[in-house]
Amino acid sequence: MKSGQKENKHIFGPVPSRRLGLSLGVDIVPLKTCSFDCIYCQLGRTTRKTIKRMEYVKVGEVLKELETSLEDSPPPDYITFSGSGEPTLNSKLGEMISKVKKMSSVPVAVLTNASRLIHNVRDDLYKADLILPSLDAVSEGVFEKVNRPHEKLRIEHIIANLKIFCKYFQGKTWLEVMLVKGVNDSREELSKMAKIIQQINPDKIQLNTVTRPPSEPEASALSQDELESVKNILGDKAEIIGGFEGRTSEVYSGKREDDIINLLNRRPCTMSDISSSLGIHRNELTKYLGEMERGGKVKSFIHASQTYFQVLTIPAMTGRDERR
Ligand code: SF4
Repeated sequence: MKSGQKENKHIFGPVPSRRLGLSLGVDIVPLKTCSFDCIYCQLGRTTRKTIKRMEYVKVGEVLKELETSLEDSPPPDYITFSGSGEPTLNSKLGEMISKVKKMSSVPVAVLTNASRLIHNVRDDLYKADLILPSLDAVSEGVFEKVNRPHEKLRIEHIIANLKIFCKYFQGKTWLEVMLVKGVNDSREELSKMAKIIQQINPDKIQLNTVTRPPSEPEASALSQDELESVKNILGDKAEIIGGFEGRTSEVYSGKREDDIINLLNRRPCTMSDISSSLGIHRNELTKYLGEMERGGKVKSFIHASQTYFQVLTIPAMTGRDERR
């Protein structure tokens, strides 16, 4: 945040995104307002598990912040509705997408858990350029284990709605599968998933695994070899999501990383500590911490049921000078 600049409540970034390049995030539901409570969620346990659509945050407030952010920062690759919970729960999503598209020529993306792609939600999403739904399971039992959904949700309905959505959507759909070791990675589940994804017919299948401190400490990652095996099962459209690419990491990660390292050099902190100390939105922060953890700069540990971060090595100089 620039000094003197008012802190945004709903807009974060631009952040380097592994899937979207440089992404300006739009957060339109309060923290952990979601229809799922995924065991791998990096935002912690869901505090409001709901399928109720309503105007959780005001359209006018969001658009005003977005307009200022677009003026203050270089053009992002995407304006992305994502954030602290499930964005399709905001009943004004469609209106917001339409207004954003009038405001800017930057493509609009929406990250969704796809739990409620019922007709009015589909109509909202059809206005976007890119939809990134997730599908982590195709059997009810596995779905319950990995996503811990709202009691009214059934995986067969979710799959049926995803098929309808993809059939009529004019934009691109990149389907994400988050893999958790020993939970949704059995050959049986993945073979079934391969057939169903073929019917859904997304443009891409993006494989991800637990890389950031998850909601449940026992949720663990697949190895690169295991991810390669999953990729083979899911077919030609599947790809394993890599690290940040291009300009994003070089331009934007450096200052943030320096600030985080400086703070953690003083004492280990939780994500909330870092977020409130540095004024960084939690979603933006998870990306930096995930990348720093992968790069061996920080590590996380559990203490008194909370996830803390600490500096792994104390470098002579932090930040840009150490990166290639
Ligand atoms: S990972 Fe996404 S869908 Fe799952 S609980 Fe967290 S916010 Fe909700």
